[in-house]
Amino acid sequence: MALIVQKFGGSSVADAESIKRVAKRIVETRQAGNEVVVAVSAMGDTTDELIDLAHQVALIPEPRELDMLLTAGERISMALLAMAIKTMGYDARSFTGSQAGMITDAVHGAARIVDVTPGRVREALDEGAIAIVAGFQGFSRESRDITTLGRGGSDTTAVALAAALDASVCEIYTDVDGIFTSDPRIVPLAQKIDTISSEEMLELAAAGAKVLHIRAVEYARRHGVTLHVRSSFNNSEGTLVINETPDETAARIRREMQENGIVEEPIISGVATDLSEAKITVVGVPDTLGKAAAIFDVVTKQNANVDMIVQNVSAAATGLTDISFTLPKADGQRVLQALRSEQETIGFQSLQYDDQIGKLALVGAGMRTNTGVSAQLFRALADAGINIGMISTSEIRISVVTRADVLAEAARVVHHAFGLDGDQQAVVYAGTGR
Ligand code: ADP
Ligand code: ASP
Ligand code: MG
Repeated sequence: MALIVQKFGGSSVADAESIKRVAKRIVETRQAGNEVVVAVSAMGDTTDELIDLAHQVALIPEPRELDMLLTAGERISMALLAMAIKTMGYDARSFTGSQAGMITDAVHGAARIVDVTPGRVREALDEGAIAIVAGFQGFSRESRDITTLGRGGSDTTAVALAAALDASVCEIYTDVDGIFTSDPRIVPLAQKIDTISSEEMLELAAAGAKVLHIRAVEYARRHGVTLHVRSSFNNSEGTLVINETPDETAARIRREMQENGIVEEPIISGVATDLSEAKITVVGVPDTLGKAAAIFDVVTKQNANVDMIVQNVSAAATGLTDISFTLPKADGQRVLQALRSEQETIGFQSLQYDDQIGKLALVGAGMRTNTGVSAQLFRALADAGINIGMISTSEIRISVVTRADVLAEAARVVHHAFGLDGDQQAVVYAGTGR
């Protein structure tokens, strides 16, 4: 008997009808003779709505209480899903993250899994039941509090369960047919990818392709879990994320080219966009030793995930420089407040906050062996009249910052310029894209 972990995202369980549809699908997997463990997200946009509500009562909601509030979302969907399965004549039991043994560190809003002890889940399976686990939540032994794994964290719950229970596959069911060359909501001509290396998927996720939570991809890679991203609205095959070395990726691509009669090697596998980041500029920083360290010490203490950093050349006359960096908007106010409280000690002049930026990233294992990708990217953007604010690169990724309002156009232009456009429009089955 195989053990299969299935994760259903918010748009797949948005209302009672969808919950019944998902319940049927789970039961079918059970009927096929598998043991089934399900990780489920909160219904529809519940998490966003709860966050909005929190901000109506507090500018910076207390992280402990915010986690307490948000985990309520998954409690609702897990209980409803278990009830729906029961009506179909199958035993099902729901578990909170804490009951399912998702042990995390004590960092609210971005907790890391430190241990998984799914004793109760195993017991339920042994008794023939389907186990439904609340995604995105955990419990810290250190603080004895409930935690959350960060937005999109239900994917990570699923992968962690798959690893701990030695599942044969971890299926991530969502509202599109798999992983595409770009977000189909933004780039309608995006094409579904059949197989992607975990290395490339990590870079796409890091660049904001929220189809998979970055930590889920990391965890799957570390524990050798095979991920299958697919639609909960049909039975077609989705995308396999496989753990392979760069050499294996290159060999697979060559094989696929031969099979499909393609002569030109694909350099880019995807274009990711991200509107969830903001830019902080620390203006007038004395250009002396240790100032950047002091600034980023403050930022790190806030557990903010800084991505791009740019330090300008200091003006000779003043000896002052500006340092800009991007970070999630959700961390923006907290980091600003923390920096303000250190302004005198560090000695900078002022802070600027810009939350109208967009980030675009180009990812592809083929970049390793191809020069000229940056030039082609900058040319495509320039031809479309799109200005670039910041640039950063890694071995297989190039990221640029644009204004938020031109990001979608930038993605379409770049997708086209790199020959990624398909010949038909991608289907988006549900969800609001929030
Ligand atoms: P779920 O609620 O199922 O977790 P998410 O909204 O978190 O779903 O993720 C699925 C969404 O990710 C898609 O609807 C799509 O808009 C977005 N997305 C972004 N980049 C990609 C990509 N490269 N491939 C597929 N979907 C993507
Ligand atoms: N409900 C959480 C969120 O919206 C977790 C998830 O969906 O993966 O971020
Ligand atoms: Mg998600």
